[in-house]
Amino acid sequence: MTDISGVREDLFIGGEFRPASSDKRIPVTNPATEAVFGEIPDGDVRDVDASVSAADLAFRESGWPQLAPAERAQHIRRLADLIEGRGEELGRLVTAENGMPLANSIVASGAMTARHYRYVASLADQLEVETERPSVETLTVIRRQPVGVAALILPWNGPQLTIAWKLAPALAAGCTAVIKPAPETSLDAYVFAELVREAGIPSGVVNIVTGGRDTGAMLAEHPRVRKVGFTGSTVGGRAVALAGAADFKRVTLELGGKAAAILLDDVDLETFAELVPSVCMRYSGQVCRALTRIVAPRARYQEVVDAVVAALDSLTVGDPLDPATDLGPLVSARQRERVEGFIRSGQAEGAKIALGGERLSHLERGYYVAPTVFRDADNSMRIAREEIFGPVVTILSYDGVDEAIEIANDSSYGLGGAVFTADEERGMDVARLIESGSVGVNHYVLPMNAPFGGVKQSGLGREQGPEGLAAYLETKAILCRPVNRSGVSGDSSC
Ligand code: NAD
Repeated sequence: MTDISGVREDLFIGGEFRPASSDKRIPVTNPATEAVFGEIPDGDVRDVDASVSAADLAFRESGWPQLAPAERAQHIRRLADLIEGRGEELGRLVTAENGMPLANSIVASGAMTARHYRYVASLADQLEVETERPSVETLTVIRRQPVGVAALILPWNGPQLTIAWKLAPALAAGCTAVIKPAPETSLDAYVFAELVREAGIPSGVVNIVTGGRDTGAMLAEHPRVRKVGFTGSTVGGRAVALAGAADFKRVTLELGGKAAAILLDDVDLETFAELVPSVCMRYSGQVCRALTRIVAPRARYQEVVDAVVAALDSLTVGDPLDPATDLGPLVSARQRERVEGFIRSGQAEGAKIALGGERLSHLERGYYVAPTVFRDADNSMRIAREEIFGPVVTILSYDGVDEAIEIANDSSYGLGGAVFTADEERGMDVARLIESGSVGVNHYVLPMNAPFGGVKQSGLGREQGPEGLAAYLETKAILCRPVNRSGVSGDSSC
């Protein structure tokens, strides 16, 4: 069992825990108690270079890219079993790092993450490295090969799961990887590193460098990194895309969101209200695809406000270790300040608070914010336009379905969204018109085989599903059988 008070001086590079070159450290704080309980190295250029060099060497010499995908799948399955076996330990550590309620954290870090690895292993089993594509005059072999060294840069809100979203397809494709966890949630990555070793994944195939923004930036710029998988803020994603543009690195960017839930006039509010805590406010709203704008028909506005307020008012906010807790603290003092700044700005712009809006007097310690509902807001306000990443929901009103769709699409983001209605066909028609990477109709569950990602400033590319695996593969055409005498197949040569 890993000690929960973790002071780490090392990094996981080339299959070993080696002392970091950097002597700078980042403290790790428990957001429920405000106590510092660990520290991690703030990786510098030498650490980044050592981890990329190890991944590069493994790519060239470990034989990992040359294994049959089904053999790599066996390693991935072993890793899944080990993760599930240590789920409780991982969950406890993640809760100490980011404040996610424990029951949630154990499932997210253990069983759910393991399921994701197993699903990707099943995709690897089906991956055909070479397929033939005949034409009248030639036969082309289409070869799918790993992109190369992948840098995987992660946020703090679902650390093990977001490693899985990236690392599972990277491994299945035959890439080697350098993981850069968020500084808030790096200690659980050390436990993960032990599991990588136990799973028998060759040394250097997975490396972990810890640190903050600068460490991430050095990794994104590194010339031997061929692919960057990034989950985080839109600002961070833009910096990564710009860094990668210099040498046309492949990038997948999972960024922020401001998803709208459109309630059509026939919506069953009782059913919707039951979903509100999970779809709007799971993990205190620190979920990129949370439905944070509720777009309600004007004729039923008061009814909607009452239903949403009742659903959120019944939530228990408190110690994430207490099984009765629904919402824990926000991840950091900085995040709480940011969220409180948005609450002040909503009030200053004229929206009214229907619930919450203040700190909770019974919680003296910890970065807590009460579930907050804004009413009488319009879509031009900052609370409706910017990603708050906290327990704040804004209820907007519309007069006709066209206006509801216009409001939902009037956003610089396009990650998620949903429609709730008694008429599924009507819901599908609206869903087709929403500008986002995914839209739910009467539910908001994201299955592992559904591609996930954003349009507009919510990102680039897709994770999950076969699309998520394709993002770690390059496609090569081997032109292997010309049929005319000159050895050149007549057409389209330039
Ligand atoms: P963040 O952008 O501050 O940091 C994310 C990661 O990127 C961290 O590891 C950080 O150290 C690193 N980083 C930051 N700036 C960088 C730069 N310029 N170059 C390279 N690396 C850099 O985000 P966060 O606060 O950790 O996470 C919250 C954000 O993540 C929210 O905006 C949320 O919407 C987003 N998010 C998106 C998804 C998704 O799938 N779309 C999922 C979870 C979180």
